[in-house]
Amino acid sequence: MQGFQIQESAMSGLPPCPECGSGYTYEDGAGLVCPECAHEWSPAEQAEQAAAAEVEGQVRDANGTALADGDTVVVVKDLKIKGSSQVVKVGTKVRNIRLVEGDHDIDCRIDGIGQMGLKSVFVRKA
Ligand SMILES: [Zn+2]
Repeated sequence: MQGFQIQESAMSGLPPCPECGSGYTYEDGAGLVCPECAHEWSPAEQAEQAAAAEVEGQVRDANGTALADGDTVVVVKDLKIKGSSQVVKVGTKVRNIRLVEGDHDIDCRIDGIGQMGLKSVFVRKA
């Protein structure tokens, strides 16, 4: 009984192929291989990427969409810049954002204005 259980859990322990969904994956060294589409991947790496995505998912735009480094966003509200008469107009496209910790959780560079911090609630992913 004990032996049967171990065998069964070992057989169902391998995840299906992330490319084609095939369940006939097998282990090859530290990685997994799919015999149907020849895709090779590392489950540990995959878990790491999923974990990283989850952390990035903590910064969300006005619509609740997760933002990531390098994304392009659009400002959804006129934003007055503190200590200046300049305004970041609604509809302004901001390329290559960088997520940072804090109240203004997006670090970016806006054409004609320069480096500044934005709040993710005032943008949406382009
Ligand atoms: Zn496959």
